[in-house]
Amino acid sequence: MTEAIPSELPEEYRELSATVRDFAEQVVAPVSAEHDRAHSFPYEVVAGMAELGLFGLPFPEEYGGMGGDYFALCLALEELAKVDQSVAITLEAGVSLGAMPIYRFGTEEQRQRWLPSLAAGTALGGFGLTEPDAGSDAGRSRTTGRLETNDSGAEEWVINGSKQFITNSGTDITAFVTVTAVTGETEKGKEISTIIVPSGTAGFTVAPAYDKVGWNASDTHGLSFDDVRVPAENLLGERGRGYANFLRILDEGRIAIAALSVGAAQGCVDEAVRYAKERQSFGTHIGGHQAIAFKIARMEARTQVARRMYYRAAALMLAGKPFKQEAAIAKLTASDAAMDNARDATQVFGGNGFMNEYRVARHYRDSKILEVGEGTTEVQLMLIARSLGL
Ligand SMILES: Cc1cc2nc3c(=O)[nH]c(=O)nc-3n(C[C@H](O)[C@H](O)[C@H](O)COP(=O)(O)OP(=O)(O)OC[C@H]3O[C@@H](n4cnc5c(N)ncnc54)[C@H](O)[C@@H]3O)c2cc1C
Repeated sequence: MTEAIPSELPEEYRELSATVRDFAEQVVAPVSAEHDRAHSFPYEVVAGMAELGLFGLPFPEEYGGMGGDYFALCLALEELAKVDQSVAITLEAGVSLGAMPIYRFGTEEQRQRWLPSLAAGTALGGFGLTEPDAGSDAGRSRTTGRLETNDSGAEEWVINGSKQFITNSGTDITAFVTVTAVTGETEKGKEISTIIVPSGTAGFTVAPAYDKVGWNASDTHGLSFDDVRVPAENLLGERGRGYANFLRILDEGRIAIAALSVGAAQGCVDEAVRYAKERQSFGTHIGGHQAIAFKIARMEARTQVARRMYYRAAALMLAGKPFKQEAAIAKLTASDAAMDNARDATQVFGGNGFMNEYRVARHYRDSKILEVGEGTTEVQLMLIARSLGL
């Protein structure tokens, strides 16, 4: 069977992977099927991840973080996603989409206010980019932010519009959502800025959770903003840089989603190998039939190739080198591997693969969104083509 934690990784990364793997098997796995069935948010699992320090992995200790790096986060995501993609995406979105924009673009005051609880995992932030009429083409955003002076003479943003499919936006511990909003017009077109909207602000409504195909234990809502007023200081990053800043966050996020996808793909390999050694047909275990053995061999090959791609993209990013093309290739390769492996693993499981009680069935439903979230497959191809000058 595959060496699940590559031996060339430095010791501290190997230890982290082993710790998260134990947590995934001992704490997450026993409750995964029930949360999936009930579409319930796994608060007790999130508290366990918080205790392990996973939400603070890439942040400096001065903000309550663990002083690690983005690659450490990726390794943790890979281990969690082998077992439960909903739990992994809750961490991915919490860190890479919720907390990271505050860390990267926030003022010192904003960092001090929000990061300690986000890094501790006692609070979550949402990332509100997608709108009903603006997904892949996020520049079509219609949500507006207007600067007004209130009766007390203080400047406020007045936000109107809606967002859809926003992860971690409606949990009991969601502290805020950062939203992109059109804040003016420039010669080049819309001026888009990012504004922090705390949960519970008047006029900010979180719609009931979606009825999804998969990721059932992850929290996803549509949001609406009806004359929502927040202080002018809630602007995150420079005015007019909101879209560019969110694109940077998505470039990084693609590496994290690639890691999550590799975990899903590996989880399918591990389950398929185990089952193929046990299940008997025509006088042998099914892994003794070359058609099944080759199917699993191909699954393993896809997983290893995708893992190399996200390692490479993460290494470039951490070295401060350009990584946009590599992140897109990592996300493309890994989400393809996850989806292909989920299909092949369920085939190896025969009828059992269609039963929700089996982990591979959950991977089959969960993996589809990996080809859509944080940039669809077509968007990754567009980015790669652009990097080639096409
Ligand atoms: C469970 C879930 C969680 C999510 N979480 C978040 C979140 O936390 N924050 C957030 O902001 N968003 C979130 N999203 C939204 C997600 O990022 C978008 O769904 C995704 O970017 C695609 O946008 P869209 O759904 O509007 O599809 P569209 O943009 O409408 O695309 C439809 C199809 O057309 C294709 N297409 C579009 N343009 C082109 C083109 N130029 N060339 C070729 N093909 C093209 C797309 O690839 C796709 O296949 C989430 C979505 C889901 C389902």
